[in-house]
Amino acid sequence: MGNRIDGKAFADQLCESLKTEIESLVAEHQLRPTIAVVLVGNDPASHVYVRNKVRRCEQLGIESIEHRLTSSTSQTELLDLIEEMNQDSNINGILVQLPVPEQIDDKAVIDAIAPEKDVDGFHILNAGALAVGQNQMVPCTPLGSMMLLKDQLGDLSGMHAVVIGRSNIVGKPMANLLLQENCTVTVVHSRTKNIEEVCRTADILVAAVGIPQLVKADWVKEGVTIIDVGINRVLVEGTEEEGKSKLVGDVDFDQVIDKAAAVTPVPGGVGPMTIACLMYNTVAAAKKQTGIS
Ligand code: NAD
Repeated sequence: MGNRIDGKAFADQLCESLKTEIESLVAEHQLRPTIAVVLVGNDPASHVYVRNKVRRCEQLGIESIEHRLTSSTSQTELLDLIEEMNQDSNINGILVQLPVPEQIDDKAVIDAIAPEKDVDGFHILNAGALAVGQNQMVPCTPLGSMMLLKDQLGDLSGMHAVVIGRSNIVGKPMANLLLQENCTVTVVHSRTKNIEEVCRTADILVAAVGIPQLVKADWVKEGVTIIDVGINRVLVEGTEEEGKSKLVGDVDFDQVIDKAAAVTPVPGGVGPMTIACLMYNTVAAAKKQTGIS
């Protein structure tokens, strides 16, 4: 039976050390890291994500400023707000919760955020910096996934890492981080042929697809370490909980746990690390902007 990687415990530890660091930034430098969170529209999942992020900020002593805008907000209105926050030296980090309503171009929004305040790490300059190995702001989910992998495996050098999914926010930055750790990296996606066969050669498997329990036992080899990024809401079937919904990953945890060396569960794996790394990026941004090493 493989090891269940406790992302929640790791995230709690990271947040504890950030809290201590923030206390000393406030005491010694009168610097309280501040993040502005913008939510446009009524997407229920986005509301939950924002609430969880703001709650973590409060626990750690990060100041959060929330902007809740209606679903009819125009792109110009949103870009004006971002520009105002770019100019405000009290704001260290800016996060616009995605997705935004369809009248707004998300790429324009991401690239309007000052790169040094882009705590999500999605700005094209931050993506480019990561691609050439000069990391500035690294996207939170791949950053948190990499922390778990290094904690689990130590040196990743020479390992074959397979990343399922090639999105700009998870798959591609994850592949770049794995390359930086000297892994041999394969990225597979919706057009890949013989995907199971490729996955079976992985020492490290990162699933970031959005298909519930896609990865089965016969997709993996003995001893693999699996990071399940997927968050999928599905209806419960066949138990007394029938009709209720629950969260599952892109990996069939119960099937792979007997073959794998270690697997992140959903929930309780990568999710908490994503929020912890948002806090990490916000503290790093605040220090960098004020010249504190
Ligand atoms: P996305 O939709 O942008 O990208 C999905 C990728 O999967 C695409 O590159 C696509 O080519 C690939 N894909 C689709 N069908 C496939 C198939 N049958 N076989 C192989 N590849 C296939 O999604 P995303 O934003 O990268 O998110 C992926 C998953 O991770 C989602 O479930 C999302 O909710 C979750 N997510 C979790 C966190 C977290 O904090 N844990 C953060 C971001 C995203």
